[in-house]
Amino acid sequence: MSWTISPAVADILKQGAAGEGLNRDQALTLMALPLHGRESYALMQTADALSRERFGGKGENHFHIGLNVAPCPLNCRFCALTVEAGIFTESVTFDDGQLLEWARNAEAQGADALNLMTTGNFPLARFLEIGRLLKSAVRTPLVANTRDITHKEGEALLAAGFVGFYHAVRLGEGRDTPLKPEKRIATIQVIKDVGLCWMNCVEPVGPEHSPAEIVELMLLARRYEATYSGVMRRINFPGSPMSGHGMISELEMARLVAVSRLVMGDIPVAHCTHEPNGAALMAGANLLFPEVGASPRDGQADTGKGRGQAIDRCRTLHREMGWDPDRPSNCFRQAVAGGQMKMESQV
Ligand code: SF4
Repeated sequence: MSWTISPAVADILKQGAAGEGLNRDQALTLMALPLHGRESYALMQTADALSRERFGGKGENHFHIGLNVAPCPLNCRFCALTVEAGIFTESVTFDDGQLLEWARNAEAQGADALNLMTTGNFPLARFLEIGRLLKSAVRTPLVANTRDITHKEGEALLAAGFVGFYHAVRLGEGRDTPLKPEKRIATIQVIKDVGLCWMNCVEPVGPEHSPAEIVELMLLARRYEATYSGVMRRINFPGSPMSGHGMISELEMARLVAVSRLVMGDIPVAHCTHEPNGAALMAGANLLFPEVGASPRDGQADTGKGRGQAIDRCRTLHREMGWDPDRPSNCFRQAVAGGQMKMESQV
């Protein structure tokens, strides 16, 4: 094993450390570094240092609530909530009492956002109703995580109290899903146009994805200026059609988290990883997703009783890795400031 860092890699890391972002070739050079070599660890340390400085040591927890379990007819191949997976044969929507309990508990435990996820066929009218309900009950910012939307629907989400929208062009979009990448990108533009914060993740990464396709999505996140855009690995649920490909390790994911962090440069205000893990928290990630309700990675209807990690576990992970979950979130400052200005002008 080489003990030195090549001048070419050192130059790329220097540019990354300055928050200038990386181009395709530079990112691909980093993607090819041997996983256990000194250069990979230098990459992760560079991304870690950049995040700690830019994010002021803040550890973010965005609390995922999967609102409904349903056999989704869109049949994305990596998802447990599909007709084809055959795990869930009936639709279940968690009731208002349960949603309020989850939201209030998350707020009491210091969640920085509520990430409300639905299957692709969930009615938007009901989603807006839930947004209004939770907005009236908690102060925690609301992030929508649902199907593609139009401008009119984006404005309705804002009016219902949402400030952010999680939306990704997934790896294998159009190949492992029935949705066209262009449609997903059009929705990202809608999100930006209406003034919602666009949250993103390069996901769900598996061993079969080429460095080129992974880097393409990192560059997309930079181009559209995501609020955050880290990396999530694919979890193969029992019986998943993707099982034959295997899964990447947490260490491999941490290396990708570091590459994506340097690609993003000074654009983001946080950097995510999923599922919660310690390695990525020393490679540029500071944002974790505790989870309850439905999950595309779980055979349990309520992932809080399955794979999903609790918020206190995520807060402990943050502290163990030197991130402070009690500091104020960096993600919604603009949105909150905008809201306050609006309120003040109404007085
Ligand atoms: S990822 Fe979303 S749209 Fe695709 S099958 Fe799962 S719930 Fe449906």
